[in-house]
Amino acid sequence: MINVIEFFRNLPKKRCHKCGDIMYEKADCYGNLCDDCDHPAL
Ligand SMILES: [Zn+2]
Repeated sequence: MINVIEFFRNLPKKRCHKCGDIMYEKADCYGNLCDDCDHPAL
């Protein structure tokens, strides 16, 4: 059984194109921006 943490560690890390933060989840939904940079209020 694959350890969940190992699974995520082996995933290619996506980085926010704006601030450079590494994104783990929701990356597919928010494209290339992290939660902060993709805030609708901005
Ligand atoms: Zn960002």
